Amino acid sequence: MELRGQVAIITGGARGIGRATTIELANAGARVLINYQRSAGAAEALAAEIVAAGGDAFAYQADVADEQAVTGMVQAVLDRWGKIDILVNNAGITADAPLARLRPEQWQHVIDTDLTSVFLCCRAVIPTMQRAGYGRIVSVSSLAALAGNVGQTNYAAAKAGIIGLSRSLAREVARDGITVNVVAPGYVETDMVETVPEALRAWALQAIAIGRFGRPEEVAAAIRFLVSPRASYITGHVLTIDGGWVMP
Ligand code: NDP
Repeated sequence: MELRGQVAIITGGARGIGRATTIELANAGARVLINYQRSAGAAEALAAEIVAAGGDAFAYQADVADEQAVTGMVQAVLDRWGKIDILVNNAGITADAPLARLRPEQWQHVIDTDLTSVFLCCRAVIPTMQRAGYGRIVSVSSLAALAGNVGQTNYAAAKAGIIGLSRSLAREVARDGITVNVVAPGYVETDMVETVPEALRAWALQAIAIGRFGRPEEVAAAIRFLVSPRASYITGHVLTIDGGWVMP
């Protein structure tokens, strides 16, 4: 229970990697705000499950690309629990197409949802973390940010932006007791990967040293460590979680 008494926000916390992270942090004793956009049923059910198991959780609807919604979400946490120790920027989407056919609205939607959201959420929690002299921020990037991926120029740009943002922010707040890190998963078995064409999945599988895709729990375990007090000397780091696919 190394996170007992701590307060965490997990964006997109009701499904996939976000859901696994919510469970992991709640199991470690954290009180969790489960952010969702469309998955109200899943978010409410997960919150109820955590509360029934003796934890503390609530589901909150907010589009993380919307400044006002993010401000409202952070205020709701402060009203309820009075502090924020942990922010996990997990929410993300894809809208794939080769660049020559990528529509400006596809570009913008992914940049807004996957990158601007990280800016908005970090900006909303930093003042309270600075006042407390403690904070842990982890954002979910992607191997696409490091290696590139066909059909994902928008996604890779957003995910690479997360890395630059996080390293710069890590320097800005390092002396306030706040660490800022990034995880960069390869393919992980969630709804998002269901949209990857079969040929691309088969190609990836033969390139991954461990020979299989990751599980959401395997990403969540790494996030749990990075948001724990024990990870106090790790900041500005990008941790690949890819089964030995790229090994940069
Ligand atoms: P899923 O598609 O399973 O889940 C996406 C999550 O993002 C959902 O919880 C969804 O919430 C949330 N979300 C999307 N848009 C918004 C929004 N505007 N506001 C709030 N929440 C939003 O994907 P994964 O679990 O696979 O992905 C989680 C993260 O991991 C993403 O950032 C993704 O880019 C990244 N990633 C995933 C990889 C993979 O192979 N799966 C690999 C590398 C990185 P709701 O359902 O409520 O709309």
